[in-house]
Amino acid sequence: MRSKRPTLEEYMMAIARVVSTRGTCDRLHASMVTFDPVTKRILTTGYGGSKQGEPHCEDVGCEMRDGHCVRTNHGEENAVRQADLYGVDLKGKHAVSLVLPCGNRCMDPMVNAGLAQVTYGGKYHRQKEVESTHAQEYESALKKAEAAGVSFHEFEGDDLYPLLIAVYDIMRERGIDDEALLGELKKVKTNVTHRVVKPV
Ligand SMILES: [Zn+2]
Ligand SMILES: [Zn+2]
Repeated sequence: MRSKRPTLEEYMMAIARVVSTRGTCDRLHASMVTFDPVTKRILTTGYGGSKQGEPHCEDVGCEMRDGHCVRTNHGEENAVRQADLYGVDLKGKHAVSLVLPCGNRCMDPMVNAGLAQVTYGGKYHRQKEVESTHAQEYESALKKAEAAGVSFHEFEGDDLYPLLIAVYDIMRERGIDDEALLGELKKVKTNVTHRVVKPV
């Protein structure tokens, strides 16, 4: 009973959601997926993680500086680095990001890579714990990136819906009672845009 085929952005956002689960810093599980809007193919993915060979925040705690954890490369940064690494040209390509990319690390490489459009799931700095310290920084980085030619849109689809449908199909195949499963799925809020940030 597949009732809805996801839009291209919903599909990409659901993948970004899965990618983010590999993040190693619990303050925020950010991630980005870049794709070609014409061929509809995924180009690169990135999640937040420590530099190669270094310990993970989840094991040794965050390394805080000026209200930021500096131990990890951010998910958005990593998606751009992966493109560099594999020689993928991101010029004119699109991306979905679970959150609005930050100004201190991510916006510049994204602008330099030539991404044309970024759809973000939510604004990290709107959350209470970070609002006061970083709101200005995020907003001015957003304006600069837009002036440089990258267009930004807040995601309006349902990012968890395609995942829930997939889980539903698998459970049905395994003979789980329809009514019981649907009851459980209905309890899940499908429009969650980002994780709760842990206070510093
Ligand atoms: Zn951390
Ligand atoms: Zn960032």
